[in-house]
Amino acid sequence: MAKIIVSKFGGSSMADAIAMKRSAGVAIEHSANLVTVSATYGTTNNLIKLSNLALNSSWEECESLVDEIVEKHHSIARELELQDLTELDGLLSEVRTISKGINLLRDCSAKAFDAIQSLGERMSSLLFARALEIVWDGKKEVENFDVRKVLRTDDQFGKAQPQIKEIRRLCDKELSRCKSGEIVYVTQGFIGQSEEGHTTTLGRGGSDYSAALIAEGLGADILQIWTDVAGIATTDPRIVPTAKLMSEITFSEAAELATFGAKILHPTTLTPALREGISVYVGSSYEPLAKGTWIRGECSDAPLIRAMALKKDQSLLTLSTPKMLHSHGFLYEIFKIFNQHKISVDSITTSEISVSLTVEDSTLLNKKLITELETLATVNIEENLCLVSLIGNNINHTAGLAGQIFNALGDINVRMICLGASKHNFCFLVNEARAHDAVKELHHHFIGA
Ligand code: ADP
Ligand code: ASP
Ligand code: MG
Repeated sequence: MAKIIVSKFGGSSMADAIAMKRSAGVAIEHSANLVTVSATYGTTNNLIKLSNLALNSSWEECESLVDEIVEKHHSIARELELQDLTELDGLLSEVRTISKGINLLRDCSAKAFDAIQSLGERMSSLLFARALEIVWDGKKEVENFDVRKVLRTDDQFGKAQPQIKEIRRLCDKELSRCKSGEIVYVTQGFIGQSEEGHTTTLGRGGSDYSAALIAEGLGADILQIWTDVAGIATTDPRIVPTAKLMSEITFSEAAELATFGAKILHPTTLTPALREGISVYVGSSYEPLAKGTWIRGECSDAPLIRAMALKKDQSLLTLSTPKMLHSHGFLYEIFKIFNQHKISVDSITTSEISVSLTVEDSTLLNKKLITELETLATVNIEENLCLVSLIGNNINHTAGLAGQIFNALGDINVRMICLGASKHNFCFLVNEARAHDAVKELHHHFIGA
């Protein structure tokens, strides 16, 4: 039986009509049964900008950005010779109406924010379905499918949690036809729907995760992530242009890379793939013939350091109190507060009377969290830090590795280290100003480029 393939195209693969047609060709060439797409390049950023303008500025300023969004989508529709603009214009007028509502009320609820952001993907999938129709030239049925019918989530707007069992049930009910190859569905990444019927989003970069969830729901064999680089590199090529593309990487290593900041994959993408044993491929929609990277359970080698990642916008919270001395339950009290605020902590170290942990800078906007932590201990905050991670194998059992790392870092001050918890990861905090230097030095030392 033919393999079932889910393909995901990110914003860079959806930049304009040419990019869409190119991506449609890739989807066909690689036998996609279902295609998940992101918003067109820059549109999610623009919708977020629009919400902020609507909250804080005049309607005239909002309107010129709305017009820009309208023109961009109309221009792609024109180039794709989309005859009936009713549906696209309906979505564009939703952009206008929601932003007008935010502007009038000077209020943007989390629900409204998700609703406006969802329009990026809802418009791009409509346009991409048209591109796919053109390239298929009538040889196959193509349907723009509203993913909200299957991607059930809770109502944590902005970071909605998928309901896996329900997604499986709904995918089976609604999408099975694509398994036979008689129809190709085009659907939206990033968005879902709560039980009450409200539109939700999975968090920035969430289309990778959507595609993986649908691949799981369909029981797909392969998940293809098509982006603007020809696979996963030893580090972000924007930091080290000589970074090397890797032909394979294990699930554990790739998951560490994604969790610790490599934008190429949304951090939770691999969880559904691992659960369902789906092979994952990352390739470039611009260079589909390049080799790309396979993410596998096991690879032919297991190098000590395979890759490195950088996670920006980190803050270090240090909580100190003599009450910690010889007492128990203190960490429990701290994490209870983080849990109540649904905030995840990336890394942690402790000493006799203090504990340091990292959170995203934006967490500091949550004044209530800080006030609650202050009832337990003195809280010292350091902002604008970056978490640098080395990812590989047997890291916590290799003598001399720490020495090599600190030698390579030279005069770059290391603010905090996490080592030992994972055999795949060694990470540390540095000031943002030296973060790229740290990655470059380490890449040069361990990868040799
Ligand atoms: P898309 O729009 O397709 O989702 P993203 O911009 O989210 O694409 O992710 C692709 C980008 O991820 C690349 O352009 C690259 O700058 C960045 N990136 C970060 N780390 C890596 C890495 N290790 N290998 C390749 N690309 C990486
Ligand atoms: N469009 C969304 C974003 O820009 C989701 C994605 O592209 O993966 O974050
Ligand atoms: Mg992405």
